[in-house]
Amino acid sequence: MHQQETPVSEFDYDLFVIGAGSGGVRAARTAAARGARVAVAEDRYLGGTCVNVGCVPKKLYSYAAHFHEDFEDAGGFGWQMGEAPRFDWATLRDNKIGEIKRLNGIYGRLLDNADVSLINGRATVIDGHHVQVAGDVISAQKILIAVGGWPWVPDFPGSELTVNSNQVFDLENFPQRFLVLGGGYIAVEFASIFNGLGSDAHLVYRGELFLRGFDDEVRTFARDEMAKKGVNLHFNTNIESIEKVAGGLKVTLTDGRVMEVDAVLAATGRRPHLAGLGLDRLDVATNDDGTLKVNERFETSVSSILALGDVTGGPELTPVALEEAMKLVEYHFTTSTPEPLDYARIATAVFCHPNIGTVGLSEEAARGIYASISVYSADFRPMKHTLSGSNERCLMKLIVDDATDVVVGAHMVGEEAGETIQGIAIAVRAGLTKAQFDQTVGIHPTGAEEFVTMRTATRH
Ligand code: NDP
Repeated sequence: MHQQETPVSEFDYDLFVIGAGSGGVRAARTAAARGARVAVAEDRYLGGTCVNVGCVPKKLYSYAAHFHEDFEDAGGFGWQMGEAPRFDWATLRDNKIGEIKRLNGIYGRLLDNADVSLINGRATVIDGHHVQVAGDVISAQKILIAVGGWPWVPDFPGSELTVNSNQVFDLENFPQRFLVLGGGYIAVEFASIFNGLGSDAHLVYRGELFLRGFDDEVRTFARDEMAKKGVNLHFNTNIESIEKVAGGLKVTLTDGRVMEVDAVLAATGRRPHLAGLGLDRLDVATNDDGTLKVNERFETSVSSILALGDVTGGPELTPVALEEAMKLVEYHFTTSTPEPLDYARIATAVFCHPNIGTVGLSEEAARGIYASISVYSADFRPMKHTLSGSNERCLMKLIVDDATDVVVGAHMVGEEAGETIQGIAIAVRAGLTKAQFDQTVGIHPTGAEEFVTMRTATRH
């Protein structure tokens, strides 16, 4: 049932999607459900970065790493573990591979059930309405570029000896000595994961403190908690070179220190995965960082070529790509005119240990915007650790605009911070006031109740 006004015969498809990641698949399925004739071209795996080499395997590995502490914590509650637990990398890796195969299958069936044609191959854009893939030239009314990003590694002597975040999940051998370069999401998450799995883990970051852009108190708290758990943090330095030596890799830092490790993960950011796509021939406009420039309708400078997700340089987060896909379909395959996607106050979690959950403004950003703010901050020992013997602490923080009493930021560092902040994010997104937080009766005994019981401002 085709609902478009354009004659169906003019093009082979109404929408041709390049890339079967989170955003591409969601756009394809949703457009098909609106009656559009849709094809997707993919040359690698179904589900993109998130399913194959991102969120999903990362969270599974993070669970694996948490067991380490769970075994230790259990003793104080009366559990006697007997023989010391032993970690087997191959079991985790291979179980992960099995689970991802299952998810790949689900993605394939989702496309199939939606009547979306799946074409195996890397498509090249010929012009605003034609692509070439698997030897065929195919026409489409709209082409959607949803090719995502790809890990980027700086050039230094021995940089070819590093692994990137696509490769780290499938290492042949468990790295007893692990080093990650970078100070973003991936670096802190993998430093925590390998530390938890039992590696001697090091993080090397060129700046003073990792997680640039996050709330400063959150960053320092996460730094201290990660250090307490045994992650070796090396700030204000970088990798000068890496050399292969007998039994490992010799890493020389710019401050002259030398260490030997088994694996180096370069977590130094991701770039749009545009190579070989043909867009340069069409002069499609890009942003300074090489990502594709789009308007609020997700149109590039060639209006029949659309783009969404990581390739457009917005927040590189799966739920953002999903939301963009649904907006895009509303704009282009329905008669309604949706509200543009609001990128403010998008919650996010960093799965370092303990986790970080955050929504809205950092204290520093809020000070730059509002004349006067109040900060409510609580740093406490979670009840579980009164018996576990663990010295892990938890941070919860609200930032309030004094003029309106609206909570403009909420942050947490602690167990399952993402789970807690997801709920708080609804309130922050809805623009609720601190008074409304205070009117909410807490759930006892939880850590999250702290968010509705902080009555005295820590500072203004
Ligand atoms: P980020 O952009 O977050 O971090 C890159 C890091 O590498 C920064 O600390 C940066 O330093 C550093 N860096 C950049 N260039 C160099 C260089 N030449 N030498 C040394 N260090 C360098 O990228 P990630 O790779 O960590 O992750 C990519 C994106 O994926 C994230 O931004 C996030 O959006 C998404 N992601 C989300 C996750 C989640 O939701 N939990 C998990 C993982 C990824 P500096 O800060 O100084 O620029």
